[in-house]
Amino acid sequence: MSSDRATVSIVKGALFESPFEYSEKDLRTVREMIERSLDLIGGLRQAIGSAGTVVVKPNLVEVPFEGTAGSVVTDARVLEALVGILKDYGVKRVLVAEGKSVNLKHVESGPRQAFEALGLGDVIRRAGGEILGWDEGEFVAVDVPGGELYRTINVPRSILDADAFISVPKLKTHCQTEVTVGMKSMQGVFSVDDKVNFHNEAFPWKMVDMLRVAKPHVTIVDGLICGEGYGPIYTEPVEMNLIVSSTDVVAIDAVCSAIMGIDPFDVPITRLGHTEGIGIGDLARIDVCGESIDSVMKHFKRAGEWNPIGSSDRIRVFAGGACRFCLAQIGAAVTRLRYEGKLDGLDDICVIIGHNAPSPVRDYKNVFIIGDCARDTDIEGTFIGGCPPLPSVQIVRAFEKHLKED
Ligand code: SF4
Repeated sequence: MSSDRATVSIVKGALFESPFEYSEKDLRTVREMIERSLDLIGGLRQAIGSAGTVVVKPNLVEVPFEGTAGSVVTDARVLEALVGILKDYGVKRVLVAEGKSVNLKHVESGPRQAFEALGLGDVIRRAGGEILGWDEGEFVAVDVPGGELYRTINVPRSILDADAFISVPKLKTHCQTEVTVGMKSMQGVFSVDDKVNFHNEAFPWKMVDMLRVAKPHVTIVDGLICGEGYGPIYTEPVEMNLIVSSTDVVAIDAVCSAIMGIDPFDVPITRLGHTEGIGIGDLARIDVCGESIDSVMKHFKRAGEWNPIGSSDRIRVFAGGACRFCLAQIGAAVTRLRYEGKLDGLDDICVIIGHNAPSPVRDYKNVFIIGDCARDTDIEGTFIGGCPPLPSVQIVRAFEKHLKED
């Protein structure tokens, strides 16, 4: 039954330990926070009924970079507590599953290895859950009623076979989509090959079409240590100690944007989810219970360098009609090189990007033409294709071949 209102709960707790090393003390606190947040939206029974098998999807976008301290992937405390809650509730199988990130596409490892590398495999198993990498299993083509980009879409069989699907994203800003919470997290459900498609300005439609067929029964946002700045990977940690829950994935995104000081309708994916009827993104139609948005809100730093023009005198960017998704790939490369301490050592790099891009009048030692629509430029250089090129780390590796010799 659809409603013209949605409910989102916000619960704040007092935590003293870290996702990397914690005791019963923090675990109990997080468990109580999740239980309370679920009670405030009507309880588990209303959200998942008497489900025998539940798929839980965390966010494991990348094995985190040093310095991002707990702000990139879903917190181990949240996963351990949630699996425990579901087992105690009577769920027979709790499958904690994630897809293979495009960041891991060109290496051997997949989500199973990421779970283990992050210590999450042990945490999930000791709570009674199982881990699953969607790259290992079957995807099933399902019809998309009302689909705009897809007539059929490939969905992991484990989601289709489960009785309930719970999404557990991390609360972060994002260089391409402004925020990444519940809706953006659906990118993880696509196979690694499908992930590459429509990873451009069509992206909001892509997420909306997936949500037409695989909507989480409930979304529980890990807002313990959040990420600001150049998300989803190069985030700076912000301690918020929040759990936010809702059965409406659009409403939870709207509330989470507001918590970060961002107008929900400044986020295209939320706007589209609202106008397409996936959920309610209008704060005036969302009942917020527990804490108020105002009492927990912090103005998060946004990913300003998604447009990298002028962000470094080592990498000069000349853009024509370039999209945010492509510009943000250069921004991510600049950010990563800065993290790695290599940016200042680069030697005279020029980037040509976008349709009808200008050619600089002086000669550069190292010219890169980035993105499919810049292919026909008359300037010569190294071409990195894709619309946009994925992952951004391939751009980093290409640039770093041009470090100045001391
Ligand atoms: S290749 Fe061109 S059209 Fe595609 S994302 Fe990049 S700038 Fe946009």
